[in-house]
Amino acid sequence: MKILIVEDEIKSAQYLRKGLVESGYQVDVAHDGIDGLFMARATDFDLLILDVMLPGLDGWGVISRLRESSQVPVLFLTARDAVEDRVKGLELGADDYLIKPFSYAELLARVRTLLRRQPMRQQELYTVANLEVDVLKRRAIRGGQRIDLTNKEFALLHLLLQHKGEVMSRSQIASQVWDMNFDSDTNVVDVAIRRLRAKIDDDFEPKLIQTVRGMGYRIEDEG
Ligand code: CA
Repeated sequence: MKILIVEDEIKSAQYLRKGLVESGYQVDVAHDGIDGLFMARATDFDLLILDVMLPGLDGWGVISRLRESSQVPVLFLTARDAVEDRVKGLELGADDYLIKPFSYAELLARVRTLLRRQPMRQQELYTVANLEVDVLKRRAIRGGQRIDLTNKEFALLHLLLQHKGEVMSRSQIASQVWDMNFDSDTNVVDVAIRRLRAKIDDDFEPKLIQTVRGMGYRIEDEG
């Protein structure tokens, strides 16, 4: 398993590298966003650990450019604790994040979880009213119109479709779409639902994503 650490703080990068090498991973390090993006594109890594605040190109810039061509799991490291900043990273395609300072044990647990995930590649087609979703082609069409979704928006829609007609709680959604297990941060889910609705529901009828007060969300054609 090959991991790329993109972190400009030399000591932190060395500390993480040493720990991960001792845990049996092959590790490369980049100290700025431009090198990090170059290395991530040039080599087939199994995971990126990406600091947000980087010289050259910040972590958000790296993720958004990387996601044009790669689905490599990305764990991002942030010193910020505003929920909107975390949502931004997740919306751009990060798979998980850690807020600095964090313990090495916590990082290792996240790394192992991300590396264990298997991409699901079976044929799946879903239709709800005039929404059609092809999971294999990662395509969503509403009323004949192609809808562009980010990876996380697509994962969220896919999860709701897999449980069509069932209410999914915010914590179920957080744990299944982002591998997050903290009830306190389900704002991320509300923001993501709002963005998904803006794309697939706002300009169309009937509305498909239903809010079930006090419980969560479900996708259903109530028309
Ligand atoms: Ca930094």
